[in-house]
Amino acid sequence: MTTSHRRRLIWFCQTESVAAQPDTLARLRDRIGLTTIMPESPVSHTSGFSSSAELAARGPFEDWREREHLWPRGRDGIFPPVAGIVGGFDDTPLRRLLDTCARLDIEVWGHLGLWSYGGDVFPELAMRDIYGRALDPRYGRWGTGLCPNRPEIVEWVHDGLREAIARYGLSSFCVDHARYPAPANLHSLLGCGCPHCAGAASGLGYDADSIHARLHRWRQESGRLKYRRLRALLASRASLGEFLYWLGADDVVIEWLRCRAALLAARMRECRDVVRQAAGPEAVFGSDVFAPSIALLGGQQLNQWEQSTDFLTGGSSYGGVVGWASGVTHLAGEGAPALCSLVPGLEEREALQLIYRLFGYDDLDLPDTLEGLSNQALPVEAIYAREIQRLVAATSGVVPLYPPVSAQGSLERVESLCRAVADAGCDGAMLGLNPEDEAVLDVIAGTW
Ligand SMILES: [Zn+2]
Repeated sequence: MTTSHRRRLIWFCQTESVAAQPDTLARLRDRIGLTTIMPESPVSHTSGFSSSAELAARGPFEDWREREHLWPRGRDGIFPPVAGIVGGFDDTPLRRLLDTCARLDIEVWGHLGLWSYGGDVFPELAMRDIYGRALDPRYGRWGTGLCPNRPEIVEWVHDGLREAIARYGLSSFCVDHARYPAPANLHSLLGCGCPHCAGAASGLGYDADSIHARLHRWRQESGRLKYRRLRALLASRASLGEFLYWLGADDVVIEWLRCRAALLAARMRECRDVVRQAAGPEAVFGSDVFAPSIALLGGQQLNQWEQSTDFLTGGSSYGGVVGWASGVTHLAGEGAPALCSLVPGLEEREALQLIYRLFGYDDLDLPDTLEGLSNQALPVEAIYAREIQRLVAATSGVVPLYPPVSAQGSLERVESLCRAVADAGCDGAMLGLNPEDEAVLDVIAGTW
């Protein structure tokens, strides 16, 4: 694939540590061709933005320090990951970093969060399922989302973007958590079903009440699924489309997933408009996305996303909540026991195999037990290469693709990840790296 997109090597780095060692940036620019950084402070979960008293005064998340019972890490001064820019953070390191990057002609992508976390700390602003219930905390480690359509959150995010542009002169952003929780949070797949989201859906041509009602009926019918039939689905090597169709002729599951994805894409488009209005038409706005195999389940329909943002990137190659090579296996780890409890007689091995099959992973020799899923080494390189191909297949090429390359494992793995991205004709990468690891820098410099 040959495109005219701008080639970028972006370093997903820590604001405070790079600000303390600014020489690193010139070295990486000259050594590997670093073009861009996306700094994030592990304390504030943004690039390290401060905010004006005026903005903080109307912030919906400013009382987080009084919520230690819901956010215990607040005792250590760690901000909760929420949408927008929360006040009271010292931006000295960020300002130092911005000065250095301006001198070196290195682009800076401002970073702030949106919706997929924070609902546990701010339950009054959290996502609800289609029955109006709060999300089950059992799946909390995958994120408890905020409602993306509550007006106070929508306005707050826009205000934060405008202020970051005005205070820091930024014109590029890569926002984080621009999604629903990871689909391994099975309950989140039923949200957000609140009236704000229903109203916004109606504005996009979806009848949320009808979708909720039909989704409820579909759940009742598929809840009566018998083992004999599920085993036949597995033995017949059914595709995801066949699986959904056979569980009910109504296409409501796909309609629901498209509706929730369309809502997020619309919010992203508005944010991009805000950024362009404040920073000019050349401004750049985008986000990381889930592994392409599970992106729709997480609220990101990639061919819509590329119409609403200026690039596609990812959080990490593997591991963590958003690792591209671990998205399906994380989902399988939660989905298999849920399937077994729904369908008496279904064995763990069969449930895992079914999920692998539905996501096109059944030829990858993945563990056939939950214990194996958590203990055994996964074929990360093969899975990652497949996800990169799906990224290319799912998009039209209208925006540049910068897949996430976690360049911190074995050298062989780093080489393989870089090769997968370069061979697929992507436009660069979002790098996680240790700038002192010369062997890894050699691999990157040799790839791009
Ligand atoms: Zn909602």
